[in-house]
Amino acid sequence: MMLAKNIFKAYDIRGIYEEELSINAIKLIAKSLSHLFLENNDTIIVGRDGRNSSSKISETLIESFLENGKNIINVGEVPTPLVYFARNYLNLNSCIMVTGSHNPKNYNGLKIFMDGHTLSGGEIKEIYDFILRDSYSKLQFAKTSYKEINLKNEYISQIIKDISIINKKKIAVDAGNGVAGPIAIETYKKLGFDVIDLYCDIDGDFPNHHPNPSDPKNLEDLADTVKNGNCDLGIAFDGDGDRCLILDNLGNIIWPDKQMMLFSSEILSKNKNCKIIFDVKSSANLPKVIRDNGGIPIMSRTGHSFIKKKISETNAILAGEMSGHIFFNDKWYGFDDGIYSGARILEIISKNNNPSHKIFDSFPKSFVTPEINIQVNKDGIQHDFMKKFINTARFEDAKIITIDGLRAEFKDGWGLLRASNTTSCLVMRVEAESKRRLLEIKDKFFQQIKKIDPKIEIPNEEK
Ligand SMILES: [Zn+2]
Repeated sequence: MMLAKNIFKAYDIRGIYEEELSINAIKLIAKSLSHLFLENNDTIIVGRDGRNSSSKISETLIESFLENGKNIINVGEVPTPLVYFARNYLNLNSCIMVTGSHNPKNYNGLKIFMDGHTLSGGEIKEIYDFILRDSYSKLQFAKTSYKEINLKNEYISQIIKDISIINKKKIAVDAGNGVAGPIAIETYKKLGFDVIDLYCDIDGDFPNHHPNPSDPKNLEDLADTVKNGNCDLGIAFDGDGDRCLILDNLGNIIWPDKQMMLFSSEILSKNKNCKIIFDVKSSANLPKVIRDNGGIPIMSRTGHSFIKKKISETNAILAGEMSGHIFFNDKWYGFDDGIYSGARILEIISKNNNPSHKIFDSFPKSFVTPEINIQVNKDGIQHDFMKKFINTARFEDAKIITIDGLRAEFKDGWGLLRASNTTSCLVMRVEAESKRRLLEIKDKFFQQIKKIDPKIEIPNEEK
């Protein structure tokens, strides 16, 4: 039996379809999940994105779950947040989404929520170990059931019921031919917005650009559309719609930590002393804005499953990470939902007579580097390097935070070096109050990195 170990990632299962993520692997994963996390006759919600391989993977999963004594509710081809919504709406404990998220078209994967929580790290590795042990019990299962349910209308009407729009403006939406397009367009039109849609038909070949809005080159067409169409906002989704990125009316990218400043100040105006979670990559201005507005900032490790865990531990009212996963827990269910986040931004801009860039400009500004990816020569090495870095690196006058890599916070800026969980890279980011200080902090990090490995190549990513 061939089973690729590398598909069992930190936050999900993901790999190249057939080559790594084979149909046989899917069968074994469903069987293993049935035994590890589920009781006999439990019900699982299954959804899938619009990739060419998703129907086949979804069919295989469903068959295997049914054979292993589980009931199935198939919600069809939907964005990831609609699967989470279905779980809450139907009051069930487990759901699974077939999606390759923002990865190239030959990839696919599974986001797994079992027995009340998102699986991550150790639990995902446990699925692999269990398959290898091949220690399945030979139980006789009771008869199982299969149902198909379409919850699109319930999802959209619950968003609309929740959002109050004052001035209806013009916006542009780019779904990169991912699965979020049609539902997002329908939702925003029903909210009363005039919507220009760009690549909103579902096409598993992604003929226009990768459905990854964190890469600025994938936002260029949307920026042109916003400017040429005199739109007040641009919204771009990733392939499965659990995150979005925003452009203001001038086509500037509003990075998620700035979105979080806007959401925090809005939510805290109604709810004081509430906790708000952000990831270790976020701007130092975000905890300041949270504190200034009467909230309690909490820093978390990067990764949507870690953030979700932290939300349930702290009962935070809002959480967000730099990748664009934002979790509303005030009037929504606390899961990451790009379509809902977009609706919350629309609600805020609709109350304001100013163009959207003025709204975002009212928050503190800083100088930031993009994510600097430092390649290591073999996957896994980045974690060993990071251990050495934490032990040896010295930063005078800095407060050191090591919840995820090393973040050195100075009076007027900070730098972060962490090991990527998804690629064989170290990831660095620096923010400072001035350009000069930004370069100084970047240089301090480079010196400490070179002390451990003088041969490591640091890319020159000036922007
Ligand atoms: Zn996604």
